[in-house]
Amino acid sequence: MRRLALLLAAALLTTGPALAAPRVVTSVVPVQSIVAAVMGATGTPDLLLKGTMSEHRAVFSPAQIAALGEADLVFIVGHGLEAKLATLSGSDAVNGKTFIQLSDAPGVTRLPVRQGGAWEPDDDEPAPAAASEAEGVLSFDPHIWLDPENAKAMARQAAADLAMADPANASAYAANAAAFATEIDQTSAAIAAELAPVKNKPFIVFHDAYHYFEKRFGLTGVGSISDVSAQAPSAERLATVRGKIIATHAACVFREPQFDDKVVQTVIEGTTAREGVLDPLGATLTPGPDAYPQLLRNIAAALKDCLGG
Ligand SMILES: [Zn+2]
Repeated sequence: MRRLALLLAAALLTTGPALAAPRVVTSVVPVQSIVAAVMGATGTPDLLLKGTMSEHRAVFSPAQIAALGEADLVFIVGHGLEAKLATLSGSDAVNGKTFIQLSDAPGVTRLPVRQGGAWEPDDDEPAPAAASEAEGVLSFDPHIWLDPENAKAMARQAAADLAMADPANASAYAANAAAFATEIDQTSAAIAAELAPVKNKPFIVFHDAYHYFEKRFGLTGVGSISDVSAQAPSAERLATVRGKIIATHAACVFREPQFDDKVVQTVIEGTTAREGVLDPLGATLTPGPDAYPQLLRNIAAALKDCLGG
């Protein structure tokens, strides 16, 4: 009997199906989508954080933390975006697993946290030097995926990490990352053409998440209601934003589906600004390879609809 089992095992090793793809967990919809595009037919990465929940308010269940411990690879943006998640990296809770921070990928452009106007954090106190990203101190703006060029670099990094974990599919991962880059180039070109007529229209965003997108496409964002970490704005900041809407003749103020829109209603009341919706994360998108390019197209369409109206 034992001999038969050994023979069966040997037969499976030589003639059985290819080894299963690595078990992959991802943090937010854009990361899941980029990694899904790279994995292609080899497998599907799990998603921890639904797009309806802000990237800055991530809460994880014990079952999700256990799943992280079972994963072969965990991809996150890192460097303060998913602050609570990042504190688990390397801990006993996740079997000592080190998460891959895609914002460290070669070729990723990092922009500083914006200062001046209504971009800066509310708190005037300088952050203590010892404070960590897990405590909400950011060394750069972590919304890196909103530059499509960064997404290509993230895909290349994911392909390299997947290939290390699963060398049998290395060529598939590389080919998928290359195909993703081509698709993103086409998407970017279409968005640049679509947004060209509204490039100079000033607008205000809900939280300071769109610096990368604005810079890539040459847009005129003039401020944000809440800061880069989506902290609740003070009354003083709201007054500053209102002043900015009036002074710049901002055409639109954009709320986000992850947050209540009351504050947007308050700041635009009595001004000529219209309310629009920008979604930096993918609240209504089905996770998978199509979500990321759709996220970019949705942001472009929302900007064009409101600013061009
Ligand atoms: Zn954000």
